[in-house]
Amino acid sequence: MPEVALKTQVAIVGGGMVGMALALTLAQNNIESVLLEASVEDDLEQESFDDRTLVINPASKQFWHSIGLWSDIAKHTTEINHVHVSNQGQFGVVHFDKDELKVPQLGHVIAAKKLAQILHAAVKQNKLIKHHQPAKLESFQQNESHVRMKVATAGQSLQVDASLMVAADGVKSAIRTELNLATVVKSYQRQAIICNITTDERHHNRAYERLTTEGPMALLPFKNRFGFVWSVQEEKAASLLAADDHEFLALAQQRFGFRAGAMLKVGRRSAYPLFQIKVPTQYAQRVVLMGNAAHAVSPVSAQGLNLAVRGIDRLSQLLAEQNNNNNDLGSTQVLRKYQDLSNTDQDRTMNYTDDLMSWFKIDEPTVNAIRSLGLVAINANLALKKMLYQTAGGLR
Ligand SMILES: Cc1cc2nc3c(=O)[nH]c(=O)nc-3n(C[C@H](O)[C@H](O)[C@H](O)COP(=O)(O)OP(=O)(O)OC[C@H]3O[C@@H](n4cnc5c(N)ncnc54)[C@H](O)[C@@H]3O)c2cc1C
Repeated sequence: MPEVALKTQVAIVGGGMVGMALALTLAQNNIESVLLEASVEDDLEQESFDDRTLVINPASKQFWHSIGLWSDIAKHTTEINHVHVSNQGQFGVVHFDKDELKVPQLGHVIAAKKLAQILHAAVKQNKLIKHHQPAKLESFQQNESHVRMKVATAGQSLQVDASLMVAADGVKSAIRTELNLATVVKSYQRQAIICNITTDERHHNRAYERLTTEGPMALLPFKNRFGFVWSVQEEKAASLLAADDHEFLALAQQRFGFRAGAMLKVGRRSAYPLFQIKVPTQYAQRVVLMGNAAHAVSPVSAQGLNLAVRGIDRLSQLLAEQNNNNNDLGSTQVLRKYQDLSNTDQDRTMNYTDDLMSWFKIDEPTVNAIRSLGLVAINANLALKKMLYQTAGGLR
């Protein structure tokens, strides 16, 4: 196979949403990159571009705005203006409302596939990004001055030399494994069933979070329907996937209640194992992990990509500073600084998601009463609601 040699400032392995967003942010800062994506071009059948809907929180809205994509993205979103949190079978609810919190909206919902298409189109047009797809990283070697990568593409092999290699190769990151970076995995022994649901009532831009002893359930307003996330015990997931639509809707309705109306129609269902991945050290010589390769949280908190784009923003600022001063983009000092600046944010987001997943596991009268009183207390305390909004919104 003929070999082509390329040299670049940053090589990004993985053209998922994180890899594409990083390449675009670097280009905005005049940094060139080579973006390598293993899957076949244009089918957008990468695993994470399925039927899922994504919540874009307020901090991410600012991020997409800063790289000039918000007006394209906004057209395809549904606003969240209210959030209703309740505890199944117990008293106490919390209402979050955009007017009470004096914000334009609490978040936006978009189809993951649409966001991926927008990023893909922007990447293709950008002259500072050399996009190769399908292009699979086969091996790499770290040196004093660069990382050398061997990449298989259709019909030829590439040799890519870069000052910095970014591993945006997803939750099963082969780069992370190759580097032997310690990885802490916490399984919740739950699966999330994801699908779209239509009810007989309009959603009025209201999202619902229902805390149950099985784990959280969420309904996200999207177009004329809801995106539905239902966490269930692992052994129950298969039967919920296999159930016919009528049976599934009856079970979901029974668990969720009628707050959003009667559930009439359900779309294609998929199941995801629920776990959290923490990687205490996310860099090695001239390599840094980003996105799911560096941290994965359960989707019930809708935080994974929101957390990742804050990291992209931070890393890009540090690299831009290095670039403007003609300094080394792969310097260990810079990568360490990136991690130091990211630790608190990552820990806070992981703890918030973990609380959501774990807190409601104990089903016991005293604990239930305390939780319900907790919800009542939060609902009566605007300062506390603002703080929770800022945590979920990535604004702290
Ligand atoms: C059901 C569900 C709902 C979610 N909802 C939300 C939400 O509401 N809000 C939110 O912020 N987040 C949400 N998330 C999380 C979000 O989807 C992820 O954080 C995000 O997709 C991670 O993107 P990534 O680019 O890091 O990884 P991936 O999307 O997995 O991309 C990794 C890419 O690397 C490529 N790759 C792997 N190995 C190689 C190689 N050797 N060479 C070249 N390429 C390679 C793969 O083909 C893949 O395309 C949700 C997740 C799930 C599962």
